[in-house]
Amino acid sequence: MNTAEFRKRGKEMVDYVADYIEGIHKRQVYPDVEPGYLRPLIPDSAPQEPETFEDIIKDVEKIIMPGVTHWHSPYFFAYFPTASSYPAMLADMLSGAIGCIGFSWVASPACTELETVMLDWLGKMINLPEAFLAGKDGEGGGVIQGSASEATLVTLLAARTKVIRQLQAKSPGLTEAAIMDKLVAYASDQSHSSVERAGLIGGVKLKLIPSDDKFSLRGSALQKMLDEDKATGLIPFFMVATLGTTSCCSFDNLLELGPICNKENIWMHIDAAYAGSAFICPEFRPLLNGVEFADSYNFNPHKWLLVNFDCSAMWVKKRADLIGAFKLDPVYLQHHNQESGLVTDYRHWQIPLGRRFRSLKMWFVFRMYGVKKLQEYIRKHVKLSHEFESLVQKDPRFEVCAEVVLGLVCFRIKGSNELNEALLEKINKTKKIHLVPCHLRDKYVLRFAICSRTVESVHIQEAWQHITELATELLKKEKEKKTSQ
Ligand SMILES: *Cc1c(COP(=O)(O)O)cnc(C)c1O
Repeated sequence: MNTAEFRKRGKEMVDYVADYIEGIHKRQVYPDVEPGYLRPLIPDSAPQEPETFEDIIKDVEKIIMPGVTHWHSPYFFAYFPTASSYPAMLADMLSGAIGCIGFSWVASPACTELETVMLDWLGKMINLPEAFLAGKDGEGGGVIQGSASEATLVTLLAARTKVIRQLQAKSPGLTEAAIMDKLVAYASDQSHSSVERAGLIGGVKLKLIPSDDKFSLRGSALQKMLDEDKATGLIPFFMVATLGTTSCCSFDNLLELGPICNKENIWMHIDAAYAGSAFICPEFRPLLNGVEFADSYNFNPHKWLLVNFDCSAMWVKKRADLIGAFKLDPVYLQHHNQESGLVTDYRHWQIPLGRRFRSLKMWFVFRMYGVKKLQEYIRKHVKLSHEFESLVQKDPRFEVCAEVVLGLVCFRIKGSNELNEALLEKINKTKKIHLVPCHLRDKYVLRFAICSRTVESVHIQEAWQHITELATELLKKEKEKKTSQ
């Protein structure tokens, strides 16, 4: 493709994307295909001769779209939202064009510097304590990770290195292996699976502590486990507090957990992957109170802040803890600027070396929406979830299973788990809307998450009408089954 054709095809592609997004509500939200559907539809190996753009774009509709789950459909209520906005898509296009690999400051100064400033902007938007900001000479600062899972892993590894060094400074005879064997990290039983995985990858014990009846991790539960573990010679070093759990959007009690972690020399990391975006609204910011006790904080603008995947914002209070944990300086990556305090080499903050120019999409989105429009967006989603909540509450056959704080409603038919499993199966087989379930203690629960940028009250009403129709059919069949027995 030469430049002239790129100009033409680029414009066509923008039209295709605009048509896709504008007409997405007309597509079935969840595909009909079976596993393995795609292989028979395309050749066994790559073509020897070039093909045309037209051929490819035709195949997009024929081969790809039938197998796409439309995450941006207003009938998509599964998982959590994944962000999508036009400014972010355009910025990503520019990022693709610049195509730099910004692992160090010299590798592309704008890539590093815009990221540092954008993380400061975003930090200020959620009123993070000054200590997390880079500013001109701060000790903290932010970085874009690919995902919340990476943020948890990176901070766990940094905390691990930090505690090992501290213990070895005190007792030089201690081997790393001996210390590793005793290290223990904590999270609530409601934390995301990526937290447990970080423990596995990091080679340390990770214990899940029971949450309270509101699915919140409390200080007393942490303290109890710490006391038990210390009595058996274990070394607590890391704790993940979750704000907005994946199952039901509950909040761990930072104000109780934070002081304990600080007193016990435990690195506190906060995972607010989904909920974090809401903290740009003053009315939701109190949910973040206690962040001042944390060593690191992370949330995903790529979930709920209109910055397309991937963009997971992570801040640390002491960037030396991160950089110190992973620093290697082979000659080919050294540069004469690196000792100056102004220079950040993000390769020391993350697991991979390479990194894309992802801050461009934050910059475009923050400028084209402004904080006010972003706040409006969050508020609209929260309002819609409360609308759904009140529909559930008005139907005596149903119950709401956890407090609705942001854009997620957990609900179920008052009845057996089997009945609720059958309802979800019916919903996802009909494919008018798409939902996923969760377990809350021993209950099987349906999750209704407000996801799409374009979802409106009418879609919520339609979805509820649809759910209740399917429930009525199901309950009728149940009754018939019982009477015929
Ligand atoms: C979605 C989610 C994650 C995982 O996010 P990734 O960025 O995909 O790794 C982690 N924690 C919580 C609480 C989440 O909701």
